[in-house]
Amino acid sequence: MLRPAKPDNEAERLRALQRYDILDSAPEAAFDDLVAIAAAICGMPMASVALIDADRQWFKARLGIEDPQTPRDAAFCAHAILQPHETMVVPDARADARFRDNPYVTGAPGIRFYAGAPLLDADGLAVGTLCVMDGEPRTLEPQQQAALQALSRQVSALLELRRTSRALRLQLQERAWYEEQLVKFSDALELANADLNEQARLDPLTGLANRRALVAALEQASAAGRPACLALLDIDHFKAINDTHGHPAGDEVLVQVAATLRATSAGHGLLARHGGEEFAWLLPEVDLAQATLQCEYAREAVAFASQALPVTISIGVSAHRPGDTVGEWLQRTDAALYAAKRGGRDRVQAA
Ligand code: GH3
Ligand code: MG
Ligand code: MG
Repeated sequence: MLRPAKPDNEAERLRALQRYDILDSAPEAAFDDLVAIAAAICGMPMASVALIDADRQWFKARLGIEDPQTPRDAAFCAHAILQPHETMVVPDARADARFRDNPYVTGAPGIRFYAGAPLLDADGLAVGTLCVMDGEPRTLEPQQQAALQALSRQVSALLELRRTSRALRLQLQERAWYEEQLVKFSDALELANADLNEQARLDPLTGLANRRALVAALEQASAAGRPACLALLDIDHFKAINDTHGHPAGDEVLVQVAATLRATSAGHGLLARHGGEEFAWLLPEVDLAQATLQCEYAREAVAFASQALPVTISIGVSAHRPGDTVGEWLQRTDAALYAAKRGGRDRVQAA
């Protein structure tokens, strides 16, 4: 038996084969069909799509052949690829020095006749063959040989098609993955934005609306032309609490006063932390008398709340007047607050 030589372009040829990513893949009907057609046209009991790997011949499709692969040295097809543009025909293997003592000739499946048409890639590199075999010495009619060559071109085209469709599928999968990530990312961004929006409107210590949210609400209320009152509520002698008990205790008082005010307001209007130890309460749809009464309740609630440290608040309240700017409204309310402080603290002063 003569071992098949390695083609001069063997390394390049192997790379071409690897690009198909087909070795050891599962059987595919399209390849099986072409092998069956080749066997039928040539009237042979055996046929295969054989790919020549570095050290083995591996069958993508096979008919009448047991083993899924053979050593390369014993492969007829390893000889056939040495002439990439010719169909190799061996009329009688026993009369051929290359094959007479080949184990597949002397033993099962007892090959006598062989014809193999190389499978070429786009660059003309032979990666294997489409071959037919018989257990008897034979010849092929010219039209059978032409058909075998035509079918080998179909196998080559199928290999190419298989590669591009797999690449396309991978690309689509990758794209789907990216799109999925994008959706996740934008969802996370939306959540973070909602969070930021919320943070931009809330005072972090008390959880009440902050000054920015208050001013926006005041703008809206004064533009609406509906009755509305504004109260400014300031903790009395708060500096003394800080000085005596420390800043953290002062913070705790702010949180507790905010909670008491929130409970007293019962969701009516907008409560905000206007600044340091000063709160604001926007009361829509009430006149000054009603607002003053509500402020009285709030003042009492703070004064009688069971807090760690007793505190009182002073409140200035004023009604929105037609034509008032937010600044004027705030100023008038602040003046009322100042009056409440001057009047002795722990009291409500209406403007
Ligand atoms: P008045 O009865 O006249 O309102 O006296 P006051 O001491 O409450 O007012 P003043 O404006 O003199 O002092 C307010 C203090 O509030 C000063 C400041 O250090 C303190 N303060 C402002 N913001 C915070 C805060 O977030 N936490 C704490 N613990 N203290 C604050
Ligand atoms: Mg104060
Ligand atoms: Mg103050």
